[in-house]
Amino acid sequence: MESPLKNCVAVVSGAAGGIGLETSIGLAKRGATLCMLDLDLRALENAKASSSALQDAVCHQVDVSKAEEVESCVQSIFRAHSRIDILVNNAGILRDASLLKMTETQFNQVIDVNLKGVFLLGQACAKAMVQKKSGSIINISSVAYRGIYGQSNYSAAKAGVIGMTKTWALELSRHGINVNAIAPGLIETSMTQTIPPQVKTQMIKNIPLGRMGQAKEVADLVAFLASDKSSYIQGEVISINGGFLI
Ligand code: NAP
Repeated sequence: MESPLKNCVAVVSGAAGGIGLETSIGLAKRGATLCMLDLDLRALENAKASSSALQDAVCHQVDVSKAEEVESCVQSIFRAHSRIDILVNNAGILRDASLLKMTETQFNQVIDVNLKGVFLLGQACAKAMVQKKSGSIINISSVAYRGIYGQSNYSAAKAGVIGMTKTWALELSRHGINVNAIAPGLIETSMTQTIPPQVKTQMIKNIPLGRMGQAKEVADLVAFLASDKSSYIQGEVISINGGFLI
């Protein structure tokens, strides 16, 4: 494979599994130096060991919802590499419940990780990118930004991520930074393993391609948005959902 991302330093949150791990592998295969962030260091080390492409990746234990942890993690990455070229804001959680049953804790947990976490890591990495006058930020939103039953917290966070993406595109364009969001549909990861089988079967019936997406299919889109090939795409939300919204 060519190395279009050679000399690029990439930061991926939620990199221990699912879309974050496939994204890390995809960027590393294209030549990027990987900084993999997640809550659990052992899970990260196992993820790193799962692919030879990640042999030079550096693992960072960090909770993206904690400002001091994010700040010190990004500072140590910048000290080590003197640059950050790519940020994939991918860490996310679910705490589903219908409006009438959702607790304040469930609401706050999802907003803290899926919205505030994106803000904190985005802000810290953008400060590094501004110094080099280049960079690419890819925020992982979701088809849920349109509203999904039982996901007041998650839908609000994912819609908020799109609002921030467009705001950052306006603010950071003059610093040579591209900012875009990806809105995946139903992707096969541990996050969707919690969906009851009969509900999943019904959801798949509404997908024209007739199947769930694979994490690698999202990772390939991330790699495109991280590369020079997408240099004129700015502030967009790219859907990847097997035709679910047609
Ligand atoms: P996943 O397999 O559960 O991966 C998410 C990763 O983020 C996990 O390793 C998780 O660690 C980590 N994480 C959770 N809270 C964190 C925190 N506070 N700080 C740092 N890392 C944290 O989920 P996925 O399906 O790959 O999802 C990746 C992203 O895609 C999420 O933003 C999700 O909302 C979005 N998305 C997924 C789908 C889908 O169908 N799968 C569809 C649309 C959008 P733990 O395992 O320890 O919690």
